[in-house]
Amino acid sequence: MPPTIAKAVPSTYAALESVLVSEADIKKRLKKLGAEIMELYGEQEITAIAVINGAILFTADLLRHIDNPIRLDCIRISSYRNETRSTDKPQVLGNLSLDLDNRHVLLIDDILDTGKTLSLIVSMIQKLHPASVRTCVLLDKRGRREVEFEADFVGFQIPDKFVVGYGLDFAERYRNLPCIGVLKPHLQNPPEWA
Ligand code: 5GP
Ligand code: MG
Repeated sequence: MPPTIAKAVPSTYAALESVLVSEADIKKRLKKLGAEIMELYGEQEITAIAVINGAILFTADLLRHIDNPIRLDCIRISSYRNETRSTDKPQVLGNLSLDLDNRHVLLIDDILDTGKTLSLIVSMIQKLHPASVRTCVLLDKRGRREVEFEADFVGFQIPDKFVVGYGLDFAERYRNLPCIGVLKPHLQNPPEWA
């Protein structure tokens, strides 16, 4: 007998009301974004810092389009729990393991929303005396900004909608979707399977 599944989690595409950015759009844009980044950095080495978990898929795919020497580290932030809005005070969990002194840092995140998360991490990184700090986000909800912040590289501008997929989650689910979409409304409440 197969084991009983205690809680039914709606899976991937079936949970989406609409697709905002398709898998093909992401692939095409990442290639261009990689070229833009290579043009700006020239032959310099890049120290990439991925904001996890959200930026895991984006970072993995983007870095394969960049031919510069790259060092990679990750930083973990808690800004969302099971809600579909940012919490006021994102917190940095754990430490970076690479030294950033005099390095060209490229901070990579999944989405720029209120701007609080990236401005917090950038000010933290600046204290470590890097040669430069730039930011790259897959998605930008420009209309939602609460602190002044613009990313140096942006994949797509999107409207003010809570999105999932391609690394972005709701209650840790849907990160494995290859596209970016909006959840069906009845799935946007704190879920009983969370
Ligand atoms: P900010 O600090 O800019 O408000 O929030 C940035 C973080 O909030 C992102 O790294 C991401 O984890 C989360 N976030 C913001 N908007 C969305 C969204 O539409 N969907 C998901 N899944 N996460 C979001
Ligand atoms: Mg995040």
